[in-house]
Amino acid sequence: MRAAVVSSDKQKLVEVKDVQLRPLEYGEALVDIEYCGVCHTDLHVAKGDFGDVPGRILGHEGVGIVREVADGVTSLKVGDRVSVAWFFEGCGHCEYCLTGNETFCRDVKNAGYSVDGAMAEQCIVKADYAVKVPEGLDPRQATSITCAGVTTYKAIKVADVKPGEWIAIYGAGGLGNLAVQYAKHVFNAKVIAIDINDDKLSLAKEVGADLTFNSKMKGDPAEWIQKEVGGAHAAVVTAVSKQAFNQAVHSVRPVSKVVAVGLPPETMDLEIVKTVLDGIEVVGSLVGTRKDLEEAFMFGAEGKVVPVVHTRRLEEVGDVFKEMEEGRIQGRMVLDMSLK
Ligand SMILES: [Zn+2]
Ligand SMILES: [Zn+2]
Repeated sequence: MRAAVVSSDKQKLVEVKDVQLRPLEYGEALVDIEYCGVCHTDLHVAKGDFGDVPGRILGHEGVGIVREVADGVTSLKVGDRVSVAWFFEGCGHCEYCLTGNETFCRDVKNAGYSVDGAMAEQCIVKADYAVKVPEGLDPRQATSITCAGVTTYKAIKVADVKPGEWIAIYGAGGLGNLAVQYAKHVFNAKVIAIDINDDKLSLAKEVGADLTFNSKMKGDPAEWIQKEVGGAHAAVVTAVSKQAFNQAVHSVRPVSKVVAVGLPPETMDLEIVKTVLDGIEVVGSLVGTRKDLEEAFMFGAEGKVVPVVHTRRLEEVGDVFKEMEEGRIQGRMVLDMSLK
């Protein structure tokens, strides 16, 4: 079968080649992949930013149809549509797996990084960990919910924002746009989107942001948010920028949460006095559990959240990486395995 694998040639990053999958083991299922989204995380994996994995099949935004199940599989049957997410499998018995925090399992496996992923015609999944894609959800859009969707949905859950309250979303790109949609149409919050790019802000407005703010053109968003709405009740930071994290802390009102999702390789400045006197919580949020993904899918199937996707051929994955590095991508590029 054709698969996009991490190249041992650092210049090439990725190559599409013929790969033979091993036979299924107990509890596993074989999935015919229909679509797989291309994510910045794939680019990091291909570059070896998390450690070198030459030969690994990339992809953690996969959706496909179960073709075959091995012994011991009771959660899936042939013909089911399922997803392949970054959270591929936990150990199932540690304190994190047992307390609803399975994405923090210390023995976690990640699709397209520590195990072979979904940028291929077929993928082997652990059946109990492959979340079903509901009827009525476009499988191309489902690929984005598998990653950006569940990540932002979970972050807003962690932010604990109530209906009618204000939430500030820092960064209105791929993650931020879905965060706006979940915050507005699922959590019934009032949304402020902050970015440095007017195109992204107008898209945010189109999908439901009540207020938008360009922090490159207009200066400090925190001051403006405090003046405009008396401070947000929560903030979610998807921007890969230290400055956005610092601004987020100052944009919320007392006893609020600032939820960190973006991963700039820096430290943020957290003023101890502000943190104590205002009772601010700063908390990280990492993708989402199987249950979070099931819920995130459901809201997609109900049409409350609509990811913007464009389909490409598997062979174009290298081009997509280039476009990604050059910042030329709007919406999500999704590899369509049926296109030759
Ligand atoms: Zn992703
Ligand atoms: Zn575990």
